[in-house]
Amino acid sequence: MLSMVNTVFIKASSVLVCLVLLSGCEALQRVDRGLYNAAETVSERDRVTGRRTLSMASRGQQIAQGNAAVEQIIAQQKKAGKKINGALDRKAYQRLIRVFDRIHRVSHLANERWLPILIDNSSFNAFTTGGTYIVVHSGLMRDLKSDAELAAVLGHEVAHTVANHVFERKTHQTAALIAGSEAARQGGYQAAFTHESEIEADRIGILYAALAGFDPYAASRIWERQYKKEGSARGLFFHDHPVNPERAVLTRNAASKVKSYYRNGRQNPQSAALLNNNALWRKSTSSAEAGSGAGLSAILGTALGAYVQHQGTKQEANRQAQQIQLMQALDKKVVVLGEKVIDQNSWQVVWQNRNTVNMKNVVMGVLVKDAKGKVKRYVAHVKGHVRSGARFAAQFNLPDLTVAQLKRMQLKYYLDDATPYR
Ligand SMILES: [Zn+2]
Repeated sequence: MLSMVNTVFIKASSVLVCLVLLSGCEALQRVDRGLYNAAETVSERDRVTGRRTLSMASRGQQIAQGNAAVEQIIAQQKKAGKKINGALDRKAYQRLIRVFDRIHRVSHLANERWLPILIDNSSFNAFTTGGTYIVVHSGLMRDLKSDAELAAVLGHEVAHTVANHVFERKTHQTAALIAGSEAARQGGYQAAFTHESEIEADRIGILYAALAGFDPYAASRIWERQYKKEGSARGLFFHDHPVNPERAVLTRNAASKVKSYYRNGRQNPQSAALLNNNALWRKSTSSAEAGSGAGLSAILGTALGAYVQHQGTKQEANRQAQQIQLMQALDKKVVVLGEKVIDQNSWQVVWQNRNTVNMKNVVMGVLVKDAKGKVKRYVAHVKGHVRSGARFAAQFNLPDLTVAQLKRMQLKYYLDDATPYR
């Protein structure tokens, strides 16, 4: 793959030199067509914005590759004696199909035949492998009570495929290697790339939900709930996904932009037109054709687009790394003063903020490790402001553990999230 792209770029630049030397109109057109073709080989029209993006796998190959991965998962499930789809849970699968079809019908890839797969797994998850399947865990179906929330998750997964995230990630790494970028080889770059993709998939998914007749604010409700339940884990480790509070805000903003397209329970009659031009993006319409000077702009567009995106990604990586460092630095001076048992399943901890800054939106976390080494994470939100030097308390509630059991386990407290101010 790497060598293929290299050759195309080298060819393209040698054609550029010829372009300056040639003057005949006929020859120019030929050169331009050549450039245009070169651009076509390494790029793909972004299905959402119409922009050219770097890509090396055609859609046919993507489907074959993506679907093979899911078929492997299905085979493994069957081998383990687990049921899938309707055989696993008829009612849940019918609901999944019903909501999924409405989302898929208004998506950019509505012309392809897609199928959701329900598998037996208690975790709250759904994913795409870039083909025509969306895999949904039974745990997700159980926890998402409203169809609008299910639509938000499915819209997000369909959007990952539409926006080419699965394969783009590979392509970007290759492109960055060509450019000799050191940063691209570092983990931060990859994580930030996922962060960007998640936000993009959220935005596209919210538009799909609105066009299909589902409340577009459902996505932000999911992230608000997640934040209440599990905090942001910012102080803990480098996150692959955008932290929950940020995501709740971004999804709410996107929903407010598309809410006028939402018709409760039915598809928007203008959905096809709104897919291309809406309050979130406008599809660029380029009328230029091969042989009319479009080749040069096409090849520049591809190279430039990849560069700009790469720069944005690096900035995002830096921003995230700084936030995490800040949280870890603050954490060192948040000191435990004491613990008090409240009842069988809850206890209170008192800390002191020995940092020189005040903090608000404080979330405290605790890691619990049992004898087998299994780690669980719980969070407690602290109301109000915590001034520099002040003591503050938070209560942890453990529905699945008693305090007596807890005393035999290892604990580690940490500052999960906070907004510092002076
Ligand atoms: Zn995602």
